[in-house]
Amino acid sequence: MGRLIAILGDIHANIDALETVLADCREQGVTEYLCTGDIVGYNACPRECLSIIRDMGCPVVKGNHDHYVAAEDLDLSDFNPAAAAVVQWTREQLSGEEVQWLRDLPFAVTEKGVTLVHSTMDRPETFGYVFDHRQAETNFIRQKTPICFHGHTHCPMIYEKQMTGVFRIDPQDMSLKPGRKYFINVGSVGQPRDGDPRATYVLYDPMSRRLVYRRLVYDIAAAQARVRAAGLPERLAVRLAVGQ
Ligand code: ZN
Repeated sequence: MGRLIAILGDIHANIDALETVLADCREQGVTEYLCTGDIVGYNACPRECLSIIRDMGCPVVKGNHDHYVAAEDLDLSDFNPAAAAVVQWTREQLSGEEVQWLRDLPFAVTEKGVTLVHSTMDRPETFGYVFDHRQAETNFIRQKTPICFHGHTHCPMIYEKQMTGVFRIDPQDMSLKPGRKYFINVGSVGQPRDGDPRATYVLYDPMSRRLVYRRLVYDIAAAQARVRAAGLPERLAVRLAVGQ
């Protein structure tokens, strides 16, 4: 059987979305996994999601929310009160050992010739956002492998570096061309923000170089009910239904 890689990230403690994605991965015949970070934050099941990702034993990079929850000296007064409340609540759900596991995650890894980073290879520890081709250019300066997968914006996108420059390609199923570099935003499993509320991840077949975006309907009402039952801000429940 050939290799089929699933790349997923920005899970954000949404167990309903994560379980739907992993069921689809099994159905699709996925042979290996890569995780672009932000396992926790925003939603109500950080411990369950962390446990699943750890058990998978796959390469994982650190997202900004993983970083906030795990940082020992982070000043939460810089956050808006709702965001600070969720970081604090998430810390209380996790054991010291689980927090330490998040703290030890790398900001970037290269695995079998593919790079993984949460935000951008341009100072990944500062978690800059890449929304356009100019911001992607600064990533490409640091990207050493032909393919780098990332997340952070929760909006799927493909950046292609050609001889003549960097181009933004709307997320779509495509075959990656040899001789070009790709910086691919895999979207968000647990809190999509591109107006489509379905859980999102990417499949990549390294033999055929085929890239496929998967968008899956999941039980949003269940995820919202967990947010409300946990007493997290109502806005976090509402946004799941609109994909923003
Ligand atoms: Zn995120």
